[in-house]
Amino acid sequence: MKICIHCAEFIDGESTKCTSCGNVPSIPTVIYNFSEDAVSYGYQYRIRYEDQVKKYGRVRIMYSLPGIHELFIFLAGAALSGIVGNISTDGFKALCNKILRQLRNVQPDNSLDEILNLLNDENKLIEFYEYVQAYYHDMPHINREVMIALRQERLANAVSDLIKEDQNLSPGQAVRIAMSKPDNQNMYTKPSIDELKVIMDCYRNLNSDSKNNDAH
Ligand SMILES: [Zn+2]
Repeated sequence: MKICIHCAEFIDGESTKCTSCGNVPSIPTVIYNFSEDAVSYGYQYRIRYEDQVKKYGRVRIMYSLPGIHELFIFLAGAALSGIVGNISTDGFKALCNKILRQLRNVQPDNSLDEILNLLNDENKLIEFYEYVQAYYHDMPHINREVMIALRQERLANAVSDLIKEDQNLSPGQAVRIAMSKPDNQNMYTKPSIDELKVIMDCYRNLNSDSKNNDAH
């Protein structure tokens, strides 16, 4: 499922241009990759581990979550553009409603469960928005146990990526290489403020579509 980052309309699988606004929808790679990490570690793993810490006082079970739905990446991009002031929480909610309306016409399948869960719950939406932005700021108020689990998760993924790239590496070597990276894991480079401003331009129209964010 593809979605236009200029007007938030779904795009036919075949088409390279948005049939609604005529733009070519593309998220810059640096934003796309970072959004993927932000959704995965900054939101999906984080909320699960926080839940465990709340229940048991620690993280008992580590997960391996499946790939991330394209719509999550799109929403993370919108939340990130909020860091440079383009889209407010009200604008974000309006955007989510637009997606929800379109999803009503889509054949439901399991891959949409988590996104529908999110879109149907305003508190979860705001949590997602805030957590994606927090990920950009290195998750300042995160619980220590949760942070440790997220680091292990990222390290494990970095190690398996390295071994996929070079099958001659032993697991021990891969761990050493992964740990010697500046950010210690497979986190993609954080987009600069200037790079975030570029996506701001993409999401700008979305923002003007939503009525409730005149405050910004
Ligand atoms: Zn469009």
